[in-house]
Amino acid sequence: MDEKITEASSKDNYRQEPKVGVYICHCGGNISDIIDVKAVAAALAKYPGVAVAREYAFMCSSNGQDLIAEDIKNLGINRTVVAACSPSLHELTFRNVLQRAGVNPYLHEHINIREQASWVHKADHAGATAKAIKLAQAGVEKVKRKDPLNAIRVAAEPRVAVIGGGVAGMRAALSAAGKGLEAVIIEKAPRLGGKLLELGKMYPSGEEGTAIAGKLEALVRAESKISVHTGVDIDFVGGFVGNFKINFKNSDGTSSQVKAGAIIMATGYQHYKPAQGEFGYGESANVVTLPEFISLMKNSPAGRLEYSGKEIKSLALIHCVGSRQVEGIHKPQADGKINDYCSRVCCSSALYAANQVKDRYPGVRIYDVYRDIRTYGMQHETYYDKASKDGVLFMRHNEADQPVIVSDRTGHTVKVKDVLTWGEELEVKADLIVLVTGMMPSDISLIKSQMKMPTGADRFLQEVHLKLRPVELANSGVFIAGTAQYPMDVPEAMAAAGTAAAKAAILLAEPDIPLEPFVAVVDEHKCTGCGLCPAECSYDGALMMAEKNGKKVAVVNPALCKGCGACVAVCPVRAINVAGWTLDQFDAMVEAIAKE
Ligand SMILES: Cc1cc2nc3c(=O)[nH]c(=O)nc-3n(C[C@H](O)[C@H](O)[C@H](O)COP(=O)(O)OP(=O)(O)OC[C@H]3O[C@@H](n4cnc5c(N)ncnc54)[C@H](O)[C@@H]3O)c2cc1C
Ligand code: SF4
Ligand code: SF4
Ligand code: SF4
Repeated sequence: MDEKITEASSKDNYRQEPKVGVYICHCGGNISDIIDVKAVAAALAKYPGVAVAREYAFMCSSNGQDLIAEDIKNLGINRTVVAACSPSLHELTFRNVLQRAGVNPYLHEHINIREQASWVHKADHAGATAKAIKLAQAGVEKVKRKDPLNAIRVAAEPRVAVIGGGVAGMRAALSAAGKGLEAVIIEKAPRLGGKLLELGKMYPSGEEGTAIAGKLEALVRAESKISVHTGVDIDFVGGFVGNFKINFKNSDGTSSQVKAGAIIMATGYQHYKPAQGEFGYGESANVVTLPEFISLMKNSPAGRLEYSGKEIKSLALIHCVGSRQVEGIHKPQADGKINDYCSRVCCSSALYAANQVKDRYPGVRIYDVYRDIRTYGMQHETYYDKASKDGVLFMRHNEADQPVIVSDRTGHTVKVKDVLTWGEELEVKADLIVLVTGMMPSDISLIKSQMKMPTGADRFLQEVHLKLRPVELANSGVFIAGTAQYPMDVPEAMAAAGTAAAKAAILLAEPDIPLEPFVAVVDEHKCTGCGLCPAECSYDGALMMAEKNGKKVAVVNPALCKGCGACVAVCPVRAINVAGWTLDQFDAMVEAIAKE
């Protein structure tokens, strides 16, 4: 085992004869309205190895937990089965009860008789009860065969590496430093700030993007716990939670390495670039994207909106360009996929830009061609209200009838089948076409492939669970901040960055990190060294062949193993198992369920 990885000691009870306590939860009627919990308790009380079986209204309540703790103390219970809700909700609660009562916390089995029995068999009370009995009996068989396990402890570098120095990356580094952590920002561009450097005046504050980025950068530069590398090219990201390594070259070609206990991915987004000819982009003069328009507006003189030296007296905004694409209507991207997601910020941003035009150049006519207006967020609807009041003319098309731009030397004609006038075919002339382009995920393919980072159908980095673990990647110790995850505006990106930094700080609060012990374990006596299992493992470095005591055997790195069990499935001699989920335990569970 790596010297950085140790096992924590804990009291164990495995040499004792199993004395199982079984606890059936009513879940306040969620379970007991369907399942006869008294019948389940009575059946389990007679089951071999069970010393006590009880039912209770809310097992997770403090009274319910005390019930178990008292049985451990008074009856010598040394293993528990709780039949209740999903383990993702309360397995840890009950493990902690065992821990507090002096029993190894992994000598517990959590059985789900709510989602898997009462909720899915509402019309069959007897069947649901019989199923709950079988599931609880299987749990007893499993827990009887459990060995005490110890958390794996990994010594951690007390430092977080933040990849990307946009608003999210800078906010994450500042929040981490505020919690006492060292932070290193690694940014590929020559300057910190990301897209804020190119987006002019921004909602909701009305500040220039450069000013917002500048303020954050000043704070970053003044913070002694933060170091910054800009203009660098990352060529390797590897390691595991507590011990990541990031190699990069500076613009002068020097190679550097950062070691970090956690990584925050703040690599942001890229602007959607329309395809050649998409609404005339790249082919007709005076067709620009929204970010390009924001910068031309910024550089136009007072009193005259200009593009290429010519005055713009009318413009048409075309929404959803490169977002909310529809199969069969829009051309796929280079990877064969369409962008069917909404980029979320572009409606507000387009209307905010239209309002700036109306404020600075009131004579400019603006046509807003949209499918839906999505000005979500606090007060953002006011951008739409203001645009309406200031005379922006809205035209709405449906999904199948995309607007058409016809261009000639006199300018552009926008043709829209307008649903607001019950399908009237409308035509308007415009000097400038502004394509309201949205967000695409940044190209971070190298990092993603080296770290096997998960992405969603939209190709942005994907969190473990949007509600329960919203800033964590499945890779332990790697967090996401900002638009690397999905389209967000600046306040949202900042909030996500603060959360990611808090998570990293919690992870690195102690010099070593406790990890779940559910990893592959090799029985070296049984292992024949056939080499089948490493070939099956998808996680680099998790499972390798090595020489041990003069014999070639499979060796697991517990910090990298994900406990997926793929290796277990291929071993011809049952020499490898996932701790806490062994083949013997599964066999016993199946037998208990199949028994008449
Ligand atoms: C047209 C448009 C207008 C907008 N207007 C507004 C507005 O008015 N108000 C508002 O609140 N929001 C607005 N937004 C949203 C705003 O741009 C984002 O919320 C914000 O930029 C997100 O910051 P970020 O740090 O997540 O990403 P980014 O700003 O994209 O920063 C990511 C950083 O990571 C770096 N990076 C990427 N890959 C790597 C790598 N491999 N290695 C190292 N570094 C890397 C990039 O160089 C960049 O500096 C707008 C967006 C669009 C598309
Ligand atoms: S925010 Fe508006 S313009 Fe952007 S993709 Fe969504 S609906 Fe379309
Ligand atoms: S359990 Fe999965 S991750 Fe762990 S060694 Fe086996 S195949 Fe690899
Ligand atoms: S598959 Fe089984 S026998 Fe073969 S190397 Fe892996 S653990 Fe050993």
